[in-house]
Amino acid sequence: MTADHDYTGRGFETVAVHAGQEPDPATGAVVVPIHPASTFAQDGIGGLRAGFEYARSGNPTRAALETSLAALEGGRVGLAFSSGLAAEDAVLRAVCRPGDHALIPADAYGGTYRLFHRVYADWGLDYTPVDLADPAAVRAALRAGRTRLIWCETPTNPLLSIADIAVLAELAHAAGALLVVDNTFASPYLQRPLALGADAVVHSTTKYLGGHSDVVGGAVVVADPELGGRIAFVQNAAGAVPGPFDAWLVLRGIKTLPVRMDRHCANAARVAELLGGHPGVAEVRYPGLPTHPGHAVAARQMSGFGGMVSFRVRAGADAAAEVCRRARLFTLAESLGGVESLIEHPGRMTHASAAGSPLAVPDDLVRLSVGIESADDLLADLRQALDAALA
Ligand SMILES: *Cc1c(COP(=O)(O)O)cnc(C)c1O
Repeated sequence: MTADHDYTGRGFETVAVHAGQEPDPATGAVVVPIHPASTFAQDGIGGLRAGFEYARSGNPTRAALETSLAALEGGRVGLAFSSGLAAEDAVLRAVCRPGDHALIPADAYGGTYRLFHRVYADWGLDYTPVDLADPAAVRAALRAGRTRLIWCETPTNPLLSIADIAVLAELAHAAGALLVVDNTFASPYLQRPLALGADAVVHSTTKYLGGHSDVVGGAVVVADPELGGRIAFVQNAAGAVPGPFDAWLVLRGIKTLPVRMDRHCANAARVAELLGGHPGVAEVRYPGLPTHPGHAVAARQMSGFGGMVSFRVRAGADAAAEVCRRARLFTLAESLGGVESLIEHPGRMTHASAAGSPLAVPDDLVRLSVGIESADDLLADLRQALDAALA
């Protein structure tokens, strides 16, 4: 669905509340209705009233979400999917052909690696993991005429590495490739990859956009309507669309994205500071810390450093797992980006699928999704978990 209402010049918070969400023309309802209909009456064959014919191809609730997503990312076409991975899959199907080559991050969401390694490699898409923070390494890994895309994540899951989006866009375009950015960790409130030269943005809307750990969803936003049309074709042809209630939950989450992100950022900064001063912690990974190798780039391309913090436990993997077990207010669980704080052990949980691969993560790593609870309570919980686990 293409953004039709012009929000140029409006603040992000205004866009988050209003884009795609004008009062319902039929009833005046100020909240977008959940349309469960799978099919739409036609006034004579092909006589569609509002462009809708069958709900895989288009549904008014999903269309509202797609308009909102396009406006938030500053793109022309927004497309919603049933999961973040379904969104990634649609981009790969639309853009790549057997025999093509892709660069993927040497540090990325484990499911993205699994999609390239276990699904698309068999289909004939070759890939090379590369440190995207190192432009010389990226240039060396590009294959003239064969590299179809650079897949970027910044900040990365789970190591919070930072890549320079504008630099990668230049490198990709010079090689005739596209730059795709997984913007899940930053959210469009903190980072807008299309404005920095990226060709496509993907999201797991399960995370910050939804924001309440109550829906699984994905999104793609692009600036070029022709590319958007190709991905929209796959969305309909392969059919990994979200249901109307799921689309509505993401829309509901989006309205408060800016205020939630402000608190996520503030709380995460406090948590990173606490961890940095704890003797049991060997290293804190948070792009807001001046010691982070990507801090300067993050400060330039993001308007805040996000709510995700990772750290390595000096005493090793079992101690890291014990910190996770001892936490109380931080719930031991996968996923991220919700209002509640979560803690997990990537090596044994979210990134187990990357074990033994070039994307394997350190086994003494703990990942935090810092929620919007009282910062003092979060700090107290982490302090007791670290002290108890390392005693
Ligand atoms: C969770 C996640 C995904 C996958 O999204 P799903 O909604 O779980 O399919 C992709 N990228 C990143 C960075 C994620 O954190």
